[in-house]
Amino acid sequence: MNAPNHSLDLFSDPGNRRAFSSHDRLWESNRYVYPVVSRRSGGISIGVNLNPDKICNFDCIYCCVNRRIAGGPPAVDLAILQFELKYMLQLVQSGQIYTMEPFCGVAPALRRLNDIAFSGDGEPTTCPNFFEACKLAADILRTHRLSDVKIVIITNATMLHRPATEKALAFLDGHNGEIWAKLDAGTEAYYQQVDRSTIPFKRVLDNITSCAQRRELVIQTLFMKVHDQPPANAEIEAYIKRIADILLAGGKIKLIQIYTVARHTTEAYATALPPTELVSIGKQIETALPDIAVHVFP
Ligand code: SF4
Repeated sequence: MNAPNHSLDLFSDPGNRRAFSSHDRLWESNRYVYPVVSRRSGGISIGVNLNPDKICNFDCIYCCVNRRIAGGPPAVDLAILQFELKYMLQLVQSGQIYTMEPFCGVAPALRRLNDIAFSGDGEPTTCPNFFEACKLAADILRTHRLSDVKIVIITNATMLHRPATEKALAFLDGHNGEIWAKLDAGTEAYYQQVDRSTIPFKRVLDNITSCAQRRELVIQTLFMKVHDQPPANAEIEAYIKRIADILLAGGKIKLIQIYTVARHTTEAYATALPPTELVSIGKQIETALPDIAVHVFP
């Protein structure tokens, strides 16, 4: 396993912990853009919420989006997005952000801009102007001479088969893009239990496979306790088999990120796995798939 202890060390620092756990998408008066210190990015990640209406085609039991409070209008105003992205880059590049809460307590090692990440309160690839938003981010990074900063798409993979999504991903292939595809299960039954979607599990698997045949992906997986029960060993074995099948089909996986519940959840019965159990699952995956890096974030 790569760097789980490093992640634990950074998380145990009180200043970092405060910043890691602050993923408030309503940062100051911004509509779309919010900064976070991301454990999985190892630095500052500028988040972009392309789903201010809070509509998602998943209904994950562990989702931290509070849908009891209504979202905003669905359309993304690119002029506002451009303004907010430029302003946030200026705050980060100048270092001014480290004078503000909760970033003033962040360790020097984490005071680096890693990425602009499209995620937010729903599935970002369902945004009608997803391609334009990706292009906007790439243009702004280029004009700020930050082309080495990644553009990360955090996706549940349900829309990767759509030509419009592939057009945006193909554009990002040439602009330091990285796809983090969610895979939370090994079986349809567990997928339906934790991700709760009308979209069949096969669609997610097929989409991840064909996307990984075109470019190297990061897989992100949240394991948790459901009604106080960790995932069964048969579920972990099935998950490993799914990853092996993707590789067998010619898919390329750069990294698997394993993490657990860290914030409030939609369902109170979705709770965090203890660090030892998460690390043990990570080791099981790493042993079965020795060619893939596995990062565990307890
Ligand atoms: S895919 Fe993301 S936004 Fe949608 S329900 Fe799941 S955790 Fe929430």
